[in-house]
Amino acid sequence: MRAPRDGTRHVVVVGAGPAGLSATRAAVQQGARVTLLDASHQTGGQYWRHRDTPTPTPAEQRLQHQWRVHEVLRDLARTHPRVELRTGAQVWAAEQHDDGPRLHVLVGDVDGHGRTHLSLAPHAVVLATGAHDRTLPFPGWDLPGVVTAGAAQALAKGDGVAVGRRVLVAGAGPFLLPVAATLAEVGATVVGVHEASRPAGLVRGWLPRPWRLAASPGKAVELAGYVAGHVRHRIPYRTGEAVVAAHGSDRVQAVTVARIDERWAPVPGSGRRVEVDAVCVSHGFTPRLEVAIALGASISSSRFVAVDGDQATSAENIYAAGELTGIGGVDAALAEGWVAGHVAAGGDRSDRSLRRAVSRRRASADVTSRIEAAHGIRPGWTAWLRDDTLVCRCEEVTVGRLRTAVEVTGSSDPVSVKLTSRAGLGICQGRVCGRVVSELLGSSSPMQARPVVTPVRLGDLAATPPFAAPGVPQAPGAAEPATAPAPAPLGPPGPPHSPDHDHARARAPHSATTERTHP
Ligand SMILES: Cc1cc2nc3c(=O)[nH]c(=O)nc-3n(C[C@H](O)[C@H](O)[C@H](O)COP(=O)(O)OP(=O)(O)OC[C@H]3O[C@@H](n4cnc5c(N)ncnc54)[C@H](O)[C@@H]3O)c2cc1C
Repeated sequence: MRAPRDGTRHVVVVGAGPAGLSATRAAVQQGARVTLLDASHQTGGQYWRHRDTPTPTPAEQRLQHQWRVHEVLRDLARTHPRVELRTGAQVWAAEQHDDGPRLHVLVGDVDGHGRTHLSLAPHAVVLATGAHDRTLPFPGWDLPGVVTAGAAQALAKGDGVAVGRRVLVAGAGPFLLPVAATLAEVGATVVGVHEASRPAGLVRGWLPRPWRLAASPGKAVELAGYVAGHVRHRIPYRTGEAVVAAHGSDRVQAVTVARIDERWAPVPGSGRRVEVDAVCVSHGFTPRLEVAIALGASISSSRFVAVDGDQATSAENIYAAGELTGIGGVDAALAEGWVAGHVAAGGDRSDRSLRRAVSRRRASADVTSRIEAAHGIRPGWTAWLRDDTLVCRCEEVTVGRLRTAVEVTGSSDPVSVKLTSRAGLGICQGRVCGRVVSELLGSSSPMQARPVVTPVRLGDLAATPPFAAPGVPQAPGAAEPATAPAPAPLGPPGPPHSPDHDHARARAPHSATTERTHP
């Protein structure tokens, strides 16, 4: 049975990257009312990160791909009467109640005062919180000038700034190519891209069944653009090599690059020193699981949110799409987002747009498995660690201290080691080090279950209205609980939409929403 198309079904989409924007469009097209939240101040997520200028300059446009798709999705999110777009809106807590999911949001500048609180109790949630860089530690990786490739990309795309003048890019995965190209575009000299995977691994991942890659022609064009950029800027690309140490006193001045074997263990005697003033490192991505875990969604053995063919998670009325469910690139994120938004809105299963999205998703699933086969992290990398190598940078926990914690307690359980060593207890709350710590301990636990899913200032927490505090029982007569009453329709339902020709219309008045705002 399909849901009415009159805006009475309320869907909250968390994340306005490709997956969340696509989910929003699909849900609205199926007649739902959508609240789209993103912690960032702009739409587009990681793929369409951009400068806050009304018209992108030609140089900026060169850094973007499929920009027109972003414009269409963004404009719909901004102007459709049944969409409320909230940027600067961070979901900091989430919970499941008998009557459905509840999300707690802080809106406003993270560093500013007077952030407003918002509690949402929608019928369904689409989680599209994406991923962040995964970086394997190495001696000296805590030196200033050693940055994640994602941070370098964000600075270059968002502010037009290069992290250094003489930059080396290293790690694993196709993401190294756009990062190097972007750095070169903003004026850095990229002295080399060092891909850890060896040629045999790359061939194993990318060469079989090449016709399947034809299903993503956009990506082939994008790849060709990067290769041309590398040739134009004379950027050397080497495989089977890794940065195994960074050197410098108050900032990085050089790195040691070594050949590595197929298990990624450094080949003895192969190290050479390269002078740099910045290093960008990325060994793939790791999903932002916190909100999904808080809502009770199961995590797969490969540490992504587990979803079925409808993009439904194991938690009732919670859907997930994009990098959160597997690393497959922008096309996968767009297709999965569409399926999630459509189904979350109660859309018709026989709808043509859904069938198209499912087939696009099938085509991009191939890319996901290729990335893992070609660039997946191999276990030998731990051979480049030393006892004094930092693992948790926030709490300055070294490999040696982790080992001692295991020896002293006799336990390699991540929670026990976290409490004894303090790894993962700092400001990042294990977002950067959690996965590495778990892996060094031989555990598959994601270490990401926490009631406050993102760092929040105590002042903001103290100002949270009682009913918005997660897990706090309602006192009799307390403020009205944030349940989901039948929401008032937001203006007249729009004309029927087609996926390719959706119409943007004037915004509905803000007051007609189910959430409660607390200044
Ligand atoms: C750092 C980085 C840079 C990348 N750059 C490129 C690139 O240049 N080219 C390329 O091909 N691929 C790039 N990728 C891969 C790219 O992310 C994906 O292909 C695509 O953007 C995935 O889309 P998504 O919607 O799943 O997630 P994202 O694009 O990551 O969007 C997720 C959104 O969710 C928001 N969010 C997360 N948690 C919360 C919360 N608690 N509350 C509110 N909002 C939240 C984030 O602010 C973000 O905008 C990059 C990935 C990363 C991690």
